[in-house]
Amino acid sequence: MGHAYSYKCSNCSFEEYYKQGHGFLVKPQSYQEYMASNQKLFHYEIHNKIVTLAKRYDNLEIDATFQVYKCPRCNLLHNKVQVTLLEGGRLLHTTQFKCTRCRARLRLTNIHRLKRATCRACGKASFRRQELGNLLWKK
Ligand SMILES: [Zn+2]
Ligand SMILES: [Zn+2]
Repeated sequence: MGHAYSYKCSNCSFEEYYKQGHGFLVKPQSYQEYMASNQKLFHYEIHNKIVTLAKRYDNLEIDATFQVYKCPRCNLLHNKVQVTLLEGGRLLHTTQFKCTRCRARLRLTNIHRLKRATCRACGKASFRRQELGNLLWKK
């Protein structure tokens, strides 16, 4: 099950939660399970990719997980659903994201090691994880 991490800016008090891990719908699943459930779960581009690849690969596996990404240019955090498409453990496709502010390609970040980022509200490098904010989260 996933976790939620709370970050708060010590300059302007802006607070945001970031999810990491699997959720109730965002989880590893087969193509059949995916087609039988809510197909609007992912962005339409990844949905189209899934449908296209499933025509070529009979045992397409879909791994979906909440991840925290950081922009290497402006240090903003972004919470995204990473979708990885595999067959027999072989990587076929994984989602790439761009920063909504500067369009740089986002990098996957290890939230357990990440202590400080840039606050999206005030732009200062004072956005910090709150140690008591680790909540179990189940959606
Ligand atoms: Zn950026
Ligand atoms: Zn701030």
